[in-house]
Amino acid sequence: MIQKWLLGSAFILAFGLNVLAQQHTNENRFRQLVEELPTPNQFRTATGHPGPAYFQQQVDYDMAVSLDEEAKSLAGEAIIHYHNNSPEVLNYLWLQLDQNIREPNSFRSKIERGKLSESVNLKTIERLSQDFDGGFKINTVQDENGHDLQIVKNHTILKVILSKPLLPGKSTKLRMTWHYQLNNIQKMWGRSGYNEAENGSGDVFAIAQFYPRLCVFNDLGWQIKQFVGSEFALEFGDFKVAITVPADFVVAATGELKNEKEVLTSEQQQRLQQARKSGSPVFIITEEEASANEKSHSSTTKTWQFSAQNVRDFAFACSRKFIWDAMAVQFSENDVLAMSFYPKEANPLWEKYSTKSIAHTLKIYSNYTFDFPYPTASSVNVQGIAGMEYPMICFNQGQPKADKSYTAQMKRGVIGVVHHEVGHNYFPMIINSDERQWAWMDEGFNIFLQGIAERDWNPKWKWSGQPVEMIGYMDDDKRTLTPIMTQADALLQPGMNSYRKPAVALTILRETILGRDLFDQAFKEYAQTWKFKHPQPADFFRIMETASGVDLDWFWRGWYFSTEHVDLAIKNVKLYEPLVGEEQARKLAEEKKASQQGHIATIRDKGQYVPAIELDEALKDRYDSISSSEADQLQAEVRNLNERLTAEERELLNQEQKFYEITFSALGGMLMPLIIQFEYEDGSTEIQRIPVEIWTKNHQEVTKIFTCTKKIKSVTLDPYLETADVDTNNNYWPRKIEHIYFKVEK
Ligand SMILES: [Zn+2]
Repeated sequence: MIQKWLLGSAFILAFGLNVLAQQHTNENRFRQLVEELPTPNQFRTATGHPGPAYFQQQVDYDMAVSLDEEAKSLAGEAIIHYHNNSPEVLNYLWLQLDQNIREPNSFRSKIERGKLSESVNLKTIERLSQDFDGGFKINTVQDENGHDLQIVKNHTILKVILSKPLLPGKSTKLRMTWHYQLNNIQKMWGRSGYNEAENGSGDVFAIAQFYPRLCVFNDLGWQIKQFVGSEFALEFGDFKVAITVPADFVVAATGELKNEKEVLTSEQQQRLQQARKSGSPVFIITEEEASANEKSHSSTTKTWQFSAQNVRDFAFACSRKFIWDAMAVQFSENDVLAMSFYPKEANPLWEKYSTKSIAHTLKIYSNYTFDFPYPTASSVNVQGIAGMEYPMICFNQGQPKADKSYTAQMKRGVIGVVHHEVGHNYFPMIINSDERQWAWMDEGFNIFLQGIAERDWNPKWKWSGQPVEMIGYMDDDKRTLTPIMTQADALLQPGMNSYRKPAVALTILRETILGRDLFDQAFKEYAQTWKFKHPQPADFFRIMETASGVDLDWFWRGWYFSTEHVDLAIKNVKLYEPLVGEEQARKLAEEKKASQQGHIATIRDKGQYVPAIELDEALKDRYDSISSSEADQLQAEVRNLNERLTAEERELLNQEQKFYEITFSALGGMLMPLIIQFEYEDGSTEIQRIPVEIWTKNHQEVTKIFTCTKKIKSVTLDPYLETADVDTNNNYWPRKIEHIYFKVEK
């Protein structure tokens, strides 16, 4: 009996402890990201650098493609040279067939969700009725000996089974031929396709994802996520591409043109030579020449040959409508040729701003990363593609009105999109992150540097990546938000999530948390370390901490792994002063008494009756007639203190110091440093910056004492709007009346 009872109690005790343990899991926002980040290893170190076993595959492409202008189709042949730098034996390779997003019954069409309402516009009906087949038609897949290889298609990816296992350190070649139908980008969304000129003056072709591209294989395995619209993960390699087009077409592409003597007139060659030395744009093809050219219709073809080294992709654009201008951008080791290609409809905006915007972008971005390592950077005007980036080339929309006039917004749009898409050369073309998985690793970094480039172009512009941009988004219904650390296809509000929020993060790190010196050095270390490599989020987080010497896990956790917002507030402000003057003590006690208004009942009673102690004097003793005793008592206490003070102590107390006790609250969950502006009664102001670690032990409320000799008139939290605080009404002490003039409608 006794034994059983003891056993039972032991069980209850253990159970009870368990419950307690669960209640005390560590939810501290400053705890390290041990569960969230992968354990450092031989491939990626704890300092965010490539480890001793780090590897990346190399894939070289030797291709010939030809465009059928009438049929709007593209045919290609490629020798793909795959180098296995991994420690694994590979029995097969995975390739990306992105155009299969437009094959009938595509994977994307299957998972596409949609609702209809009582009014449906024609475009929706057209889209739902489409029977366009734009998928890849693969004709040949052979090994280097010309033997057909077994393939297995899985929607937008293709498994090619090798004829023999590919050993570590060895390479193999595939020969593939294919063709596919190009999409009309005005009718069917795409990152590439053709744009039919409304006036029948010829099309602009923007060709990308046009060949079977190898999937990335690295220390995380194969990136085999289906292509449903988000961007790419690609290996580096060298490209040789021969592009056959109608003879009157002009071709812009990734890399350098290798046969200009065969495809350009001698005058064009001369102008190109001049542009290579010019600090301002030189026309290789003028608007007049392009206008004449677009009226022609050549029945013969020309083949333009390009080569590009160490790029992750290749794209090109071609048209008989192109005006072409170019200028040199100088770096210490090499000159870069910045070029723009655009139809006459893009002028005057493009001839004025495109090439100079490229040059500006390369200069500014290189200040924060590294000198631009590629020989060219082109911007092509393609209406229907808002902006899409490839190595050394990007497709950008934006044209003035038909009468050639343009609004400030149109101009801003062209300069902005060129900055943005050219900026993508750094992220993700060179710092080659996995966009399919993490959209923020290129878009966020790019918007951040774009903001710096915009400020440098015109300081009066509203620049990208400002914390105030975040307020509406971060204060939004949490069901409509996802953490930044979410796979690209699953993001809600991707524009804010993967572009703006991570850009603002870098602005906050640079201006508010680390300061420019620490941030710039750390950011540069990240860029230079992962230049021509494949970084992962943890590599970025770790390098930023290691290089700045600041533990930022709280910031990554709150800003990247959660949807919490910032709402810091001043809860109250109290002034404490030592009471040392005897007269002051008396005055204080009297004032306190005078200010005590009393309860409403006492006030209403006044004059209504004669109190009992007045009616009957015999009821009174000395306690009923010593209204000044509190003041006497306080004065006596101060006198007593003064008598006991040493000279030093008296001096300390006579410094007229004021001790302000201020209580701050964090109402949004996401913590931030306290940036406090004091305005003193003499009109002067002072800023104090308190590190975020003040919140370490209490994430809801902290109280701090500020010592000063001047009297504070007001206190403002985050006066420069640095922290994306969603509610600034509670950032003032005393509170301010929000004054709004409303427009009167009649
Ligand atoms: Zn972008």
